[in-house]
Amino acid sequence: MRTEATARPRLGAVALPSVRKGGDGRLTAALDPHDQGPQDACGVLGVWAPGEDVAKLTYFGLYALQHRGQESAGIAVSNGRQILVYKDMGLVSQAFDESTLDALKGHLAVGHCRYSTTGASTWHNAQPTFRPTAAGSIALGHNGNLINTHELAQLVKDLPNDSGELDLHSRELEAASTNDTGLVTALLAHHPDTSLEQRALEVLPELRGAFSMIWMNEDALYAARDPQGIRPLVLGRLDRGWVVASEDAALATIGASVVREVEPGEMLVIDEQGLRSHRFAPAAPKGCVFEYVYLARPDARIAGRSVHQARVAMGRQLAREFPVEADLVMPVPESGTPAAAGYAEESGIPFGQGFVKNAYVGRTFIQPSQTLRQLGIRLKLNALDHMIRGKRIVVVDDSIVRGNTQRAQVRMLREAGALEVHVRISSPPVKWPCFYGIDFATRAELIANGLDVDEVAASVGADSLGYISLEGMVEATKQPADNLCKACFTGEYPIELPDEALLGKHLLETSLQSPLLGKALPVLNNP
Ligand code: SF4
Repeated sequence: MRTEATARPRLGAVALPSVRKGGDGRLTAALDPHDQGPQDACGVLGVWAPGEDVAKLTYFGLYALQHRGQESAGIAVSNGRQILVYKDMGLVSQAFDESTLDALKGHLAVGHCRYSTTGASTWHNAQPTFRPTAAGSIALGHNGNLINTHELAQLVKDLPNDSGELDLHSRELEAASTNDTGLVTALLAHHPDTSLEQRALEVLPELRGAFSMIWMNEDALYAARDPQGIRPLVLGRLDRGWVVASEDAALATIGASVVREVEPGEMLVIDEQGLRSHRFAPAAPKGCVFEYVYLARPDARIAGRSVHQARVAMGRQLAREFPVEADLVMPVPESGTPAAAGYAEESGIPFGQGFVKNAYVGRTFIQPSQTLRQLGIRLKLNALDHMIRGKRIVVVDDSIVRGNTQRAQVRMLREAGALEVHVRISSPPVKWPCFYGIDFATRAELIANGLDVDEVAASVGADSLGYISLEGMVEATKQPADNLCKACFTGEYPIELPDEALLGKHLLETSLQSPLLGKALPVLNNP
């Protein structure tokens, strides 16, 4: 069991990460480290609902956001006097059981499921982060990635020592945290002479990059979205409370109605006095276009546009831009399915399933053998020979990152008897890394960075390859082009990046010493 803010005697019961023996903890793309698609940043969800079982609401809300992060999950709950945090590695369903949720009693909660973009995938970096101070505690979950981590680290270092933070003799746990979110939590926690609400309005303008954040103290829920609104964040209403979540699909899952999106540059506060809105920066929208292509659930709606409809429209556009004579249009499930349906509708070529996906592939702590590792993709996908044999196939996917996945898929289709394999991709070539919360690969690893379209086609073994145009993809989102981030396709980053040496997932583990080291900050009890 992994707890924070539990009564001190439980410290002895905390299982440290070293108990995970015998595996690297990954049975998905990481089976083959050269076979990863785009990885999501995180899912966040907050609930303020006196009289409701907020831990269970948060659990099922996180369950609906699982696609955004599968490395770790956590829930913080406050009963008005004390915050209790529980987090663990793995899927939401692996991290929590009934008895754990029963122990999380209160009226407000923050939940998080993580994919790491700054800081390694370790228990210490799992969220919500937690900091107790003399004035009250903070638990915080973050979706996105900050790009001025180095500046924030300096701000944390410069905090006076008499900030009121409690010394609970557990420095080593906090010092092991190496993510940008821990820095923000540290900055928010320092408010000796002012309220958390006021402190947040001072801290938020200091953050650069992508952040959809939800945090809490003992008696209020807070939510904020970066001025560019790179990652989504939605406000919802329960009969007896409020919910804020990464995607509206999570609201529907727990019976909340959608009120509106949190505005870019807006901070919300929800407490017993109701809902308050503050603007900490002017809105300058640059929503991530990749949310429409792949990241968000198809039943999500972003900036008024159905993600499913956008994906179908991308497929239709792809069929107009890259028609081909074929017998079957098939998706790479699941993210390629709406675009494949659109391609089939527009082209008139029959639609069918040629791959079956194992819906239950997630994380496991069993180490696969070398033979299984080489077969990695077959743990995720199998070909339906009778659908494929003797046919000219159009296979539709959302993106190509390194190309290894597509190469294996094309080979699998040929082995199943395909006469021709035409690959169609519902996003343009990914040529640039993302610094705002999506982990593609380094620039050198991106196949489209070094090869033109024909060379990529030859590399993956396809008879033809077509990527949707940038304009076609943008048009399908129904958003003004200027309101979207498209940097991974164009290299034009809407939030200015610092020097390359100051970017990177492991910045706080390598070039910067953790500013949290040597400070008295953490974790176990909030008296
Ligand atoms: S760089 Fe790409 S993935 Fe990252 S925020 Fe921009 S559009 Fe989204």
